[in-house]
Amino acid sequence: MPSILVNSASDPFHFVRNGGKKMVNFTVTNFCEATCVYCSFHKQEKKKIVSFDEARMAIDYLAEVNTGVLSLTGGEPLLNPELPEIIEYARSKNLIVITGTNGRLLTRSLAERLHDAGLNAIWISYESNEREDFERNRGIPGLSQKIAQELKHLKEAGVNAFAIALINKSITDVPKFVETLLDLGFDKVKFDYPMNFELASTYKGWSDSPLLAYSGMEMEEVISDILKVKAQGRIKVINPLGGLLGAKDFYNGRVPEFPCFAGKYILYLDANLDIYRCPALSEKLGSVGDDIEFGCRDCNLCYYQGARDFGSFYYLLDTLELLRRGIWKGEAINGLRRLDRRFLRAFLDADDLRKSGVQ
Ligand code: SF4
Ligand code: SF4
Repeated sequence: MPSILVNSASDPFHFVRNGGKKMVNFTVTNFCEATCVYCSFHKQEKKKIVSFDEARMAIDYLAEVNTGVLSLTGGEPLLNPELPEIIEYARSKNLIVITGTNGRLLTRSLAERLHDAGLNAIWISYESNEREDFERNRGIPGLSQKIAQELKHLKEAGVNAFAIALINKSITDVPKFVETLLDLGFDKVKFDYPMNFELASTYKGWSDSPLLAYSGMEMEEVISDILKVKAQGRIKVINPLGGLLGAKDFYNGRVPEFPCFAGKYILYLDANLDIYRCPALSEKLGSVGDDIEFGCRDCNLCYYQGARDFGSFYYLLDTLELLRRGIWKGEAINGLRRLDRRFLRAFLDADDLRKSGVQ
C-alpha cells in the first residue's frame, strides 16, 4: 500500500526547521487476506509478519538515520497482532506514524487502541464509483458498509482517517466518485497511480489487471478531473498540485518538474528488514543496521505515488538543506540558484498541506 501523512495536529514546516528527514514505507505484514484485482500481495508465498522485536530494531535504526515519518504498510498491516505496540514504540522515538488497511479488521476497540498508541493517521482503501464493483474487485462482500461504520469508530476514537483511491477503471466518473466517498463518511482522499508492471523489489502492490491499463491521454483526462475536484474543495484532495502536474507530464512522456527523491528521503523497508531505494527497483541499499550512503539518482522509470507525489515537498526540503550546508561551508550559491519558480511551487504545495492539516 502506498503511503502519505495526514495529521491535523502537525505542521509540515517542522521538517523544514529540523532538516530533510526521511519517510520510510515499512512492510510489517507481507501478505493479505483480501483478493483485490489491483494487487498481488494475496499471492504471496513466503508469508511473514514482522515481530515487535524486529520492528523495534528497525525503528531504532531508522531514528538514527534521520527518519521523520514511518508508514507501516502491508499487505494488510492489521494482520500484524503487535501493530499497536509497534506504533507506540515508533511514537516514543518521535516518529510520525501512519498505517492503512482495507477496513475489514477494524473494530471500535482497535480504533481506540490505535489512538492510544499515538497513531497520527490511517488510510482506508476505496476506489470504485459503485459499491458492488468495489466489493467484487476486493473480494470482500459488505465491505462498503463496514468501512462506513469503522470510519465512525475512528472518528469517535479521535483517529485521523482518509481514503486512498487507486486510479482504476472502476472510477468511471471522478466527481461522482467524490460523492461516493462523502456518502461513506470520508472527508479526505489521496489518489494513487496504477502500478501495472511487475515491481522488482519484494513489494507486491502491482497487477496486470485491465482495470489499471491506461493510455497517456486517458491518464491525462483522469488527472485533469482530479485537479478540478481538488480546486472545487468538496473533499480535500491530499495530492499536492506539483505531484498531480508531474503525473500529467509523466504519463505524456515528459519529464516531471520535480525529481524522484527515492533513496535519499524516501525508502522502502521490507518484512525481511532489507532496505530498497523504492518498491519498483531491485536495487537493495542494504539492511537494517548497515552503514548506508543514502542518495537519489536521476530516475524517471515510474510514477510511484509514495515517492513522486511529494516531489515538490522534498524539493523544498532539499533546497533548504543545500542552503543550510552551503552557508556553513561558504558555498551558498548552489542553494541560491534553486530559489526560482520551482521553489515557489514547492513552497505553495507545502503551504497547501499545512493549511489542510495534511502533510
Ligand atoms: S490492495 Fe491492499 S487490501 Fe487489496 S490485496 Fe493488496 S494489500 Fe490486500
Ligand atoms: S522514478 Fe520510480 S523507479 Fe525510479 S527511483 Fe523513483 S520510484 Fe524508483
